[in-house]
Amino acid sequence: MAELEALEFGKSDFVLLDEVNMEQFMENLKLRFEMGRIYTFIGEVVVSVNPYREMDIYGKEAISAYRGRELYENPPHLYAVADAAYKAMKRRAKDTCIVISGESGAGKTEASKYIMQYIAAITNPSQREEVESVKNVLLKSNCVLEAFGNAKTNRNDNSSRFGKYMDINFSFSGDPTGGHINNYLLEKVRTFCFTTGSENPPQTLLESYHLQGDPAVYAYTKEGAGSSVSNKHSPQHIHRNTFTATRSPQHGNIQFGTEEEIVQVEGDGEVVSHIAELTSTQPQQVEKALLFRTVATGGGDVIEKGHSEQEACFGREAFSKALYERLFGWIVGRINSVIEVKDYNPMLHGKNTVIGVLDIYGFEIFDNNSFEQFCINYCNEKLQQLFIELILRQEQEEYEREGVAWQHIEYFNNQIIVDLVEQNHKGILSMLDEACLSGGRVTDTVCLDSMSSRLAQHPHYTDRKLTPADKTMEFQKHFRIRHYAGDVTYSVEGFLDKNKDLLFQDFKRLMFNSTNPVLKDMWPDGGLSITEVTKRPQTAASLFKNSIVALVDKLSCKEPYYVRCVKPNEMKSPVLFDAARCQHQVAYLGLLENVRVRRAGFAYRQGYSRFLLRYKMTCEYTWPNHLMATDREAVEAIVTQHGFQDDVAYGHTKLFVRSPRSLFSLEQERAALI
Ligand code: ADP
Ligand code: MG
Repeated sequence: MAELEALEFGKSDFVLLDEVNMEQFMENLKLRFEMGRIYTFIGEVVVSVNPYREMDIYGKEAISAYRGRELYENPPHLYAVADAAYKAMKRRAKDTCIVISGESGAGKTEASKYIMQYIAAITNPSQREEVESVKNVLLKSNCVLEAFGNAKTNRNDNSSRFGKYMDINFSFSGDPTGGHINNYLLEKVRTFCFTTGSENPPQTLLESYHLQGDPAVYAYTKEGAGSSVSNKHSPQHIHRNTFTATRSPQHGNIQFGTEEEIVQVEGDGEVVSHIAELTSTQPQQVEKALLFRTVATGGGDVIEKGHSEQEACFGREAFSKALYERLFGWIVGRINSVIEVKDYNPMLHGKNTVIGVLDIYGFEIFDNNSFEQFCINYCNEKLQQLFIELILRQEQEEYEREGVAWQHIEYFNNQIIVDLVEQNHKGILSMLDEACLSGGRVTDTVCLDSMSSRLAQHPHYTDRKLTPADKTMEFQKHFRIRHYAGDVTYSVEGFLDKNKDLLFQDFKRLMFNSTNPVLKDMWPDGGLSITEVTKRPQTAASLFKNSIVALVDKLSCKEPYYVRCVKPNEMKSPVLFDAARCQHQVAYLGLLENVRVRRAGFAYRQGYSRFLLRYKMTCEYTWPNHLMATDREAVEAIVTQHGFQDDVAYGHTKLFVRSPRSLFSLEQERAALI
């Protein structure tokens, strides 16, 4: 039982702190980290601190210790949460989800893998072949996605640059039958900032892609050249594969020059023909797509307009990014087509239940925050809102409904920030879209000015120009949002271009005309003629918003479980506990509020009749049937006989139990009797 764990390891549940304050919380977190206890509960939430070293806690023995047990019977672990989610799914036919949050490098992706491994290990005891193969594909799909979607960043050697939500479907008997993956906001920008490792792919492979072994030769990779990744988890070889597959390094080496006012590709055309060869297109077509765009005139004519040098560079970058994005999307699509549940017949197979696992980047505050951080942080506001909805508000409402006295907990409701970003017409996203759709004249700065005048009164928005101390040119292009997790200053530079996410139709057509069927398949919209192309394509922000709204809808109808990941330090050190950094994360993850709500509330609740059904055998007054006027009185008799009457509250229809310990003793007694 968790509480019985030796005290020298600290409190295994923050709910058991003598007093709920930041000091005690941090003290306990630090002590446990130093004692190698990386997991701690807050009720059913697991707080995890990245150990940055191999832990011997994920083996077969651990799996069997957690299997089918109650959450509070074992020390805190990811497996306890995974098992709770699985049990809820199997016993109560509930759809559940496990939301894993935390900042980059905090251990989210590793946690999601352990959770998947646990679920794989406890299912299909009879080793049925078709189930084993489904499990295998589900587990291995991760490697493929990581190979193409991860990058080394200065915060994490193997950082996922995409958010991932994976549904695992289960049959009535509790075995995986398939799944579905959604990916969110792949950071395309990273095609340009490749980091390479020390391992080289085979020379022959490189040659077949017209690549040389030295990344410094390529405009898109030279920044990362020379750096190396030391960690064993590092996928150096994979980075290389990604860029060979997307062939981006070549693109970066295309330079443009202007001669007699005509923009041309510089050099002897070798790079262009390499690209044509790699994309199964014609060099002339490649060159044309790089230098011209087809436009429809007002009169309905279609003409070819030469790019300026700047436009040509813009087009080249957009094309490289799009190649990578389409490839990634295509891979996710392929995986989904393999893992989707086929031939499911509810009449035959019973209810199809789902466990969703969400691994998505947490809140980001960098020195320079741009459109990507803005989107990520908006996503985190939405997830926080969901947490408030599911955990805090529902909890309080139920107590009120049941007439149970409890202490009201003040928490900050971040709905106001969510609205600031996403509200139709009035929110920042709408304003960005307006600016993007109103033609070429609106610049980032003009858009910022308009935004700032419309949002001047908003308590969570500041235009950095308004702060006297910052009245330098540097700060003319910033705005600041007071997020629930803290203040973040965004630079608007590039916001509009990133939001428009414009790719000239000529590139799409180029790829659509590729003789490589896979490439062609990735670019179905390349078949549209210029007059058919929609005039107002969806912006990056609205696409992202729609996908996040859909995600939240999916999550909100499931029973949620949470893993909150904390990164102990910036040096990837297994021994360093940077108290200030950790405290910051604890604050913005809202963990203290979480403990307070949990303490003020009741860990466990059950309708009187269900409670009786399960425990009436443990009390002489209720076995085999009670003779009291109401079920509630019968339940009172059981509770009193077991001596935990001070630990409960009686609602109109349900019994509320504060501490899991009371219930645990009852479970033990019941187990001894059957
Ligand atoms: P995130 O997905 O939150 O950005 P990761 O899950 O990729 O972070 O973790 C970053 C690194 O930290 C991993 O590559 C690994 O080296 C280390 N790490 C994270 N969790 C664990 C763990 N449970 N045990 C050992 N090392 C871990
Ligand atoms: Mg990750």
